[in-house]
Amino acid sequence: MKKENIIFSNLYGKHDESIKGALKRGDWKNISKILKLDKQDIINKIKDSGLRGRGGAGFSTGMKWDFMPKTAGRQHYLVINADEGEPGTCKDRDIIRNEPHKLVEGCLISGYAIGADKCYIYIRGEFYNEAKILQTAIDDAYSKGFLGKNILGLKINFDIFIHYGSGAYVCGEETALIESLEGKKGQPRLKPPFPANVGVFGKPTTVNNVETIAVVPTILRRGPEWFSSLGRENNTGSKIFCISGHVNTPCNVEEELGVPLKYLIQKYAGDVIGGWDNLLAIIPGGSSVPLLPKSECENVLMDFDSLKNAGSGLGTGGIIVMNKQTDVVGSIARLSEFYKHESCGQCTPCREGTGWIMRVMKRLENNECSFEEVQMLEEVTHQIEGHTICALGDAAAWPIQGLLKHFKKDILKRIQKKNVA
Ligand code: SF4
Repeated sequence: MKKENIIFSNLYGKHDESIKGALKRGDWKNISKILKLDKQDIINKIKDSGLRGRGGAGFSTGMKWDFMPKTAGRQHYLVINADEGEPGTCKDRDIIRNEPHKLVEGCLISGYAIGADKCYIYIRGEFYNEAKILQTAIDDAYSKGFLGKNILGLKINFDIFIHYGSGAYVCGEETALIESLEGKKGQPRLKPPFPANVGVFGKPTTVNNVETIAVVPTILRRGPEWFSSLGRENNTGSKIFCISGHVNTPCNVEEELGVPLKYLIQKYAGDVIGGWDNLLAIIPGGSSVPLLPKSECENVLMDFDSLKNAGSGLGTGGIIVMNKQTDVVGSIARLSEFYKHESCGQCTPCREGTGWIMRVMKRLENNECSFEEVQMLEEVTHQIEGHTICALGDAAAWPIQGLLKHFKKDILKRIQKKNVA
């Protein structure tokens, strides 16, 4: 990606993250000009840019904003999802830590566009230091007149509040987050009604991911055409990828969507430990998507549509690399334990299914399963998928499906070997 197109120029925290440094980097530039734009005009520009949510679902941001009711007089809220609980993902944390003003400015512009004058940033409780940095950024924005009442004399009011979560993975789901924000147990709601109609405190609400909102000011300053010229059709712009696992230099890196996976790993993460030929598989989008074996990793592009076509998903862009020294069954069994632990227990397929899957996966790891059980494991994942209130059920099912799709032969061989012994 060309240096001049990089949005998060302080992603690695090499420069000053305070408002002084942010202003030098161009944050808050022409903010009053942007806030003089018509609200619908801003929404249309974001639609034209092709920006899709960076939190995992990949839904069009402009379209989501357009779902908000346009009638004046009703309280609207903007909620920022800074819970970042997806395994293998640590991009929002770096944005908050090193580029907090991109998020704060993005909140103001996005809130203005959807008619909200209040914003809650729901941040993971463990991000204590990051939340302190964010609070300083918010305080500095108030003192510069970028937040508060009658901002820059434009008769716009906007307040931002930080709310700490308590580390429940499911609170990354927007309606569970809203419940938690309201002081209740963080359990997903049935949809409809959607948050755009009935959100926080029963009022119209838009919930967006940190990275999504943090790129909004740059899109409006540089133009939607610039953003949509990056990446590929329907998969435009840049994205922060988090590369972890068996690579020589795990890192976060901003690249254009559609960048080849192999290039990303070799150029930025110092290649797979033991070399590219030592690659076994990767999980491309945090832990909640099916893994891809090495054969698929050779040419796959890192964007929403390419990964969907390859039988996986972009998710959060958290790339977890496994080399040939990995016990892939053991790794997926560990993820099953995670999903079982994080299930909120509201729906039977998820509550009972995740526990059952975890137990079978533990036995599979120890070669204690029969062939029939492997078959049953696959069937159960399909009974969970699509039959639950929120996507945690799917997230628990997909890694198993990916494992069985690509490594079933090896698993059956393992069982056969054990039976013969
Ligand atoms: Fe809760 Fe799981 Fe149902 Fe989601 S799918 S609502 S986490 S029980």
